Amino acid sequence: GAQIYTFGSGSADGDRSMKQLLGGKGANLAEMSSIGLPVPAGFTISTEACHYYSTHDGKWPRGLKKQIKRGVKFIEEIMGTHLGDSEHPLLLSVRSGAATSMPGMMDTVLNLGLNDKSVEALSRHTDNERFAYDSYRRFIDMFGGVVMGIAHEKFERAIEKLKDEKGVEEDTGLDTEDLKELVERYKAVYRKATGHMFPNDPFEQLEFAINAVFSSWDSDRAVKYRKINQIEGLLGTAVNVQAMVFGNMGNDCATGVCFTRNPSTGENKLYGEFLINAQGEDVVAGIRTPKDVTELKNTMPEAFDELQEHCNRLEMHYGNMQDIEFTIQKGTLYILQTRNGKRTGKAAVKIAVDMVDEGKIDNRKAVKSLVEPTHLDQLLHPQIDVDSVDKSKILGTGLPASPGAAVGRVVFSSEKAEETASEENPVILVRIETSPEDVGGMSAAEGILTSRGGMTSHAAVVARGWGKPCVAGCGDIVINYKKKQFTNGTKTIKEGDWISIDGTRGTVIEGKKEVVKPEMDDDYYTFMNWVDEYRDMGVRTNADSPEDSARAREFGAEGIGLCRTEHMFFGEDRIKAMRRMIISETDDERRDALMTLLPYQKKDFKEIFEVMDGLPVTIRLLDPPLHEFLPDEKEEIARVADELGIDHQKFSEIVRSLSEFNPMLGHRGCRLGITYPAITEMQTRAIIEAAVELKMEGKKVFPEIMVPLIGTPQEFHSQKLVIDEVAEEVFEEMEETVEYKVGTMIEIPRATLVAEKIAKEAEFFSFGTNDLTQMTFGYSRDDAGKFLKVYLDEGILQNDPFQVLDIEGVGQLVELATKKGREQNEKLKVGICGEHGGDPKSVAFCYKQGLNYVSCSPFRVPVARLAAAQAAL
Ligand code: ADP
Ligand code: MG
Ligand code: MG
Repeated sequence: GAQIYTFGSGSADGDRSMKQLLGGKGANLAEMSSIGLPVPAGFTISTEACHYYSTHDGKWPRGLKKQIKRGVKFIEEIMGTHLGDSEHPLLLSVRSGAATSMPGMMDTVLNLGLNDKSVEALSRHTDNERFAYDSYRRFIDMFGGVVMGIAHEKFERAIEKLKDEKGVEEDTGLDTEDLKELVERYKAVYRKATGHMFPNDPFEQLEFAINAVFSSWDSDRAVKYRKINQIEGLLGTAVNVQAMVFGNMGNDCATGVCFTRNPSTGENKLYGEFLINAQGEDVVAGIRTPKDVTELKNTMPEAFDELQEHCNRLEMHYGNMQDIEFTIQKGTLYILQTRNGKRTGKAAVKIAVDMVDEGKIDNRKAVKSLVEPTHLDQLLHPQIDVDSVDKSKILGTGLPASPGAAVGRVVFSSEKAEETASEENPVILVRIETSPEDVGGMSAAEGILTSRGGMTSHAAVVARGWGKPCVAGCGDIVINYKKKQFTNGTKTIKEGDWISIDGTRGTVIEGKKEVVKPEMDDDYYTFMNWVDEYRDMGVRTNADSPEDSARAREFGAEGIGLCRTEHMFFGEDRIKAMRRMIISETDDERRDALMTLLPYQKKDFKEIFEVMDGLPVTIRLLDPPLHEFLPDEKEEIARVADELGIDHQKFSEIVRSLSEFNPMLGHRGCRLGITYPAITEMQTRAIIEAAVELKMEGKKVFPEIMVPLIGTPQEFHSQKLVIDEVAEEVFEEMEETVEYKVGTMIEIPRATLVAEKIAKEAEFFSFGTNDLTQMTFGYSRDDAGKFLKVYLDEGILQNDPFQVLDIEGVGQLVELATKKGREQNEKLKVGICGEHGGDPKSVAFCYKQGLNYVSCSPFRVPVARLAAAQAAL
């Protein structure tokens, strides 16, 4: 079969759909050639050939050599030159390129085909001997480095020595005779390093270069990159062999790179750089300062107009903003590469909307492929300009727990944060880890940094919920509360010092960094309307305050999928009642204590229901273990005992008796409601009374009461009895009813196995994938940080399963429970409310499983909307 695919002269064997076989670069070169863009002729050796090479000890597949010879002939005919010819030599570039672009692959070799004879011809044809010998010596350097792995310094030393001898400062100070001498010295360097003569035969040069590209596929760097980025199922890299064009033949020549639009603002104007009289990577190498591409209009107006025209064609053709490489040889423009351009979130949305306006694409394409979910994330949060960050100022890297950038002065306690934070004095709360007691300080701070904990640690979950930047589990730093400082081993940061954190990337930076504020403009709203046109899975939010609920609604949430109630027990006056209930000795005492909480909770629910008027609100009954409501330090225990009017000794015994070895697997979730039904009664009453009262005011309320941590149908049954009974009572007392649903969180593996039995009574399931992941893997969410990092580095895990749903394992449980549940009750509503509800890949999985909705933190709502729409397209 065919192993090479030619392109040139307005046609091509391949096209852009053949990335797997031709790599991205090769497929696009073919495509551009066949739509008539000026692409130097060439051919692409397929990834299959590379695969053969790497699985057959570096042998070529049968017939490849012949086909390559034919390919070279194809180029020669178009160019009217011949490889190795002493009159009209053909020079080639050899370029690697897999289906996904990846660092670690071999660099490009330019000017292949030069030798002692062809260099003379090049000199005659260009009437520029200096240029010819300069190209030659560069070729030996590049070939030696890229193909044979000779350290560039060895060539560098040779040129420095020659410059010394000649008494010149700059490379340009060397004259033609010097360059000829340099060529000889470079050949000597080559011979010494490899033990062989520099290959004079161009076909031999080509074979070497092709093999080097093939081998680079299995280089350590490339293998590691593929592993980390989970690039699987690729055969290998393609090799592009192409006629050279020269941007360095004189002042009517140039080389450059450009985006068809501005990649950071989205403005519809060419954006890029070029250099007159230069070749290849000179533009990016930073040796000379390149000029803005718009200046090309002045220096080479015709070439500029052509460039503009080609850019337009490419955009039309690809339906996307392009990132292109071009070279101008003696006034003639050539396009050497095109691909979809990387862009910021702001640019992505603007470009999508503009291109629809310009009629270049329809809104379906805009939604499907012009904006990535992560782009929206960027748009909604303040950002640090990454390029402005000096590497030496990075104090450490942790998990990118909640996106966005924050700048402030370091404080080490929540009290200090609450005391000192103001607009003029923003603070960053730095803690080893956070707990529910810290929410006041977390709320006052601009951002949160912890040295311990994972993506679902308290700090991470709360920060994401609020859209507050957070770097979690930054093990690079050691915090000392007593000395009020932290250190990364080399630098020490004290309380009051400025730091910046980048929750999008997980970095902690010394000093004050410039932050760009988010903006949601008309383009954003236009785009999100299109998103909803194509989306059919619901998106709800996880919110437990009226403010969060209101924000989530603005972001497009269609209800609350998880309203946690634990914080409703924490306020100053509430915690006392809660503690009183915990130390109660009789049921009546307990009920009394709890009933003091009723009005507070009812008010909380009313406020949330009001904001979510017309939309469903899923409320989870109390979940955390009781000891979280009790003090743990000695002095605190004494103080609280006094407050409750109970003997110190007795109280500390209660505290001790409630402490557990494994609180996450202990007395929590429905186990609380079953042992203390009064908790469920009180919460149900608060929910139903709030709903009935609002209904009487003309509001539409759809409460959904969710029982946490169910493992058996009997557990659910027992809680449902309590809930229904209290609801009936309230209806009778108030002489009014509301519709409500009772369902359960599915978060214990056993529940997924007996889902059909639970679905007999449950009206909805909501996958609590944080706990489900924890219990399926047996990884403690709070302790996994220690080994997950190693697991990820070693490739034992591809993703943090608390961040990206483990489709292979946990996903099976989701699938099973959904299927079993729906078989029992076809109307069963199924959603997901773990942190995964906002992760695009996980959202796509949920869509595939036919879930009714995903629920995520308010700031993730737009991301989930887009991910859901893209899953449907
Ligand atoms: P990368 O994948 O690193 O971008 P490329 O294969 O695109 O590598 O090559 C890098 C640069 O080499 C190009 O930007 C271009 O300037 C130069 N180059 C590649 N092929 C040719 C060619 N046929 N003629 C002239 N210059 C070339
Ligand atoms: Mg390139
Ligand atoms: Mg849970």
